Amino acid sequence: SKLARPGLLEEDLEIENSLRPQSLKDFVGQQKVKDNLAVFIEAARQRGEALDHVLLYGPPGLGKTTLAMIVSRELKVDIKTTSGPVLERAGDLAGLLTNLKEKDVLFIDEIHRVNNVVEEYLYSAMEDFNITILIDKGPSARSVQLNLSPFTLIGATTRAGLLTSPMRARFGVVLRLDYYSPEDLFLIIKRSAKILNVEIDDDGAMEIARRSRGTPRIANRLLRRTRDFAQVIADNKITLQVAQMALNRLEVDELGLDEMDKRILHTIIEKYNGGPVGLNTIAVAVGEESDTIEELYEPFLIQQGFLDRTPRGRVVTHLAYEHLKIKKDKRNQQ
Ligand code: ADP
Repeated sequence: SKLARPGLLEEDLEIENSLRPQSLKDFVGQQKVKDNLAVFIEAARQRGEALDHVLLYGPPGLGKTTLAMIVSRELKVDIKTTSGPVLERAGDLAGLLTNLKEKDVLFIDEIHRVNNVVEEYLYSAMEDFNITILIDKGPSARSVQLNLSPFTLIGATTRAGLLTSPMRARFGVVLRLDYYSPEDLFLIIKRSAKILNVEIDDDGAMEIARRSRGTPRIANRLLRRTRDFAQVIADNKITLQVAQMALNRLEVDELGLDEMDKRILHTIIEKYNGGPVGLNTIAVAVGEESDTIEELYEPFLIQQGFLDRTPRGRVVTHLAYEHLKIKKDKRNQQ
């Protein structure tokens, strides 16, 4: 869905798959998550059981889908993938579940968007490995209980807070992904450059890493756009200078803020005197969906210390004024 992958083009999806690491060893960063997963995978394997259900949460583009695929690979089982909004009816879910073989993985992206009806079915599937479905309508209606093979559900969400507590309680393993350091992104960019056959020096890679909002998906995208500039105007090689030129033309600033990030901050400052202002008001003012702002833009702006969430709304911090080189209005000082 567009929401889970805001701004993601078709072209990106294909390349994204080619850049996915295939093993925990190749998955850069998130050391704690990897260490824990490695133990759980090994333990399940030794016992010959299905891995406990796993919930992965964190902002978009940090590697949740990639990790789910790696887990199934390391478990040497098959994976079926779907997403919350796609599972409209209980029958959609039943179809998937009954096709799983023992210990297989079912990956549900955007699991916070599963509707109530489907969610109820998921409960018994996850807990008792069975589902009860209704067959026929009217006088001949009857319910049939289907036994399922023990499987592992891996759920991914950008918004752990939106998950109901019974849903959350059914995950034995809950892992949170955090934004990546520039050093980790540097390694990811170097690896991707090799796969894409792009020549890039260390300074060039570090420059892209620093401006990638802590997000591998963005790092990979900026690498490809920078490659375009290198190819057309710079002898095919990405150096510091080429990276800087390309990223400036793409309107990605030194900290990785893009045009929409800046529009959000400018809007709060200029129209709402720095806040507090409600999310929906901001969304209308900048012309973006409020979900996208909340899931994609806001977490990074908060992490960078540019934005605060208060009970009365969003407030821009003094760091944002400094970064945007805007003098704080006297009226605004408390
Ligand atoms: P999410 O499911 O969290 O939105 P994805 O798993 O789809 O994110 O990752 C987006 C892109 O970033 C993919 O191309 C993936 O290969 C790459 N990526 C994510 N995490 C890593 C990582 N730790 N190391 C290398 N590449 C990564």
